[in-house]
Amino acid sequence: MDKLKILLLILPFFLGCIGVERIEKPRLRRISAEPYVRVLLGDKGGIISSEKKIYIHKGAKVYRLSSGSIELREGNIYRDKQVIFNTEPSLKVCFEDKKFRFNGLSYRGEVIFNKSMVINRVPLELYLYSVVGCEFNCGEIETMKAGACAARTYAIYHLKPDKEFDLFSTHMDQVYKGLNSETKNTRAACDYTRGLVCMYKGTVINAMYSSVCGGKTASAKDVFGDDKPYLKSRSCNYCEISPHYSWNQKYSRQNFQELVRDRIKSKKGKDPGRIKDVKIKKRDKSGRVKEIMVKAEKGEFSFYGEEIRSLFDLKSRYFDIKTRGDWVYIEGRGWGHGVGMCAWGAIGMAKKGKRYKDILRYYYKGINIKKLY
Ligand SMILES: [Zn+2]
Repeated sequence: MDKLKILLLILPFFLGCIGVERIEKPRLRRISAEPYVRVLLGDKGGIISSEKKIYIHKGAKVYRLSSGSIELREGNIYRDKQVIFNTEPSLKVCFEDKKFRFNGLSYRGEVIFNKSMVINRVPLELYLYSVVGCEFNCGEIETMKAGACAARTYAIYHLKPDKEFDLFSTHMDQVYKGLNSETKNTRAACDYTRGLVCMYKGTVINAMYSSVCGGKTASAKDVFGDDKPYLKSRSCNYCEISPHYSWNQKYSRQNFQELVRDRIKSKKGKDPGRIKDVKIKKRDKSGRVKEIMVKAEKGEFSFYGEEIRSLFDLKSRYFDIKTRGDWVYIEGRGWGHGVGMCAWGAIGMAKKGKRYKDILRYYYKGINIKKLY
């Protein structure tokens, strides 16, 4: 009986804790139907065209235009060189066939004009048809299903209801090039996994991924300073099949020194003089270079984290510098930041008969895969 009394006493405490967590993360818990995503296609205006009727929503009114094109320039909408609307504060444009063209590409959904920004508002699953085509189109259906779940999870994690748009259409977030990147297989992978997302302790995760890890993924803490229990470093030899698994760059000693001198000039705004030595000072736990120090005639210069990649135009920070005679070799592995799912590793796993859920659980440790809608 005493044990039961204790249980009854502490039970409300645990239930209270669950309640607190719900209050802290309301945004991601509310999603129970397919959300829309707002993707930035461009921020310098441009021409939108449609083969069907165009509907402009301004305030409570809807204006119908015949098929053709409209141009967004400096906050105004032009039709046949005449200003027909301004975009203050913002303006929604819909299309009879729910498709439009912008900058030579076709997209689904509708457009929001906000100042000079062209934003595509589109149901998440239709957005994913294209993202899976741009990021995971490899012919392995299990990889594409894993890719669809990761991309869906990433998009939901990055919804920003209080901002003008949610996602960039480039590598800043996920590459999205509209209808032409869709295939029968990308659509099948998304439809099969519709609504499925990766969760950690009941919360949608930041499902990062990169192209090739080169043998070991990087932890989010080491790359972005943001410690996530499901984004720790994992060994991965599944990506050995990638042409970017290992690579090397060769320079004459003189060219190498000139390159480093030029880069320091442009990055630090100071001519370092003759380069004496380039040294790898620190590596993270996965083996990626964390700090490089350059000894030069006019001082010492340090470079940290991802800026190291742009110092020598490297595919990754997973590398070594070797000097043999008059030559300098940068021998490296992988392509990308290396955090989260390794896309080429996911191909390797599928080729070995692994299913999409195995792939996701391998790269995102400790997650559950749940259906949100
Ligand atoms: Zn890998």
